[in-house]
Amino acid sequence: MATLLDGKIMAAQLMEGLKSRVNTLKEKGISVGLAVILVGEDPASQVYVRNKGKACEELGMLSETILMPAQTSQEELEALIEKLNADSRIDGILVQLPLPRHLDEAKALRRIVPEKDVDGFHIENAGKLFTGQEGVIACTPKGIIHMLKEANVPLSGKHAVVIGRSNIVGKPIAMLLLNENCTVTICHSRTENLSAHTRQADILVAAVGRAKFVTADMVKPGAAVIDVGINRVDGKVVGDVDFENVEKVAGHITPVPGGVGKMTIGMLMENTVEAAERKAK
Ligand code: NDP
Repeated sequence: MATLLDGKIMAAQLMEGLKSRVNTLKEKGISVGLAVILVGEDPASQVYVRNKGKACEELGMLSETILMPAQTSQEELEALIEKLNADSRIDGILVQLPLPRHLDEAKALRRIVPEKDVDGFHIENAGKLFTGQEGVIACTPKGIIHMLKEANVPLSGKHAVVIGRSNIVGKPIAMLLLNENCTVTICHSRTENLSAHTRQADILVAAVGRAKFVTADMVKPGAAVIDVGINRVDGKVVGDVDFENVEKVAGHITPVPGGVGKMTIGMLMENTVEAAERKAK
């Protein structure tokens, strides 16, 4: 039976450490602030934004949630981002995605000054990751590496297979695993004979968005299986991995909920605290 990589426990430990870093900054008279912009009324986004606010509160950080109507124009959104760029109380700016269709996501994200881009989605931070320079790393992939390291899963020289090639999960996690000296294979919807690839994985990351997509026969015995997926089935949140059966084969496994998602928020907080620490310097 696989060892559970418990995101709740790991995130709680991370938050403890962050709390003391926030206090250290406060003692120097420096506050830490995160601004979250939510455009429209997507119910899932509202939940995510609320959870981010709660995490800020837990750490004693300033949290500002700006709700904008669904018909907000590109100009209005970018003007707000500019205002937050100039606001010294704000260390991190997050635009909750997805934005309503009429808005240009990439253009809006480019408006955030890279130092305050705590999601790590700005083209400059993505470019830094790809060229091996220090920058802000996207929260979900950063959280996955944290979990693997906390559990002492060997990475160097191991074969990591990532299913998914999005800019926010698939590509950055592949790059981070490469930086950890894994041999990395990236699979996607056009990959032929997917299970032949996944069965070779010592570390298997599923970021597909399809419930129970990864079945036990696709997993090498003893592999570390990281389930990034968030899917709603009959009102319940489930991952991309058929947990019940895969846990019998894998060496390590993350649950959904209570796995990668928990770490994502923790890493958002860490990126914001790091931004404030840079400001303090
Ligand atoms: P995207 O939809 O952007 O990407 C999904 C990827 O899966 C694509 O690259 C796609 O390939 C690939 N894919 C789709 N079908 C198949 C298939 N049959 N075989 C192989 N590959 C396939 O999603 P995201 O990367 O944004 O998110 C993935 C999942 O992770 C979602 O469930 C999302 O909700 C969740 N998520 C969870 C987070 C967390 O904190 N836990 C954070 C972010 C996302 P192609 O490129 O060819 O289309």
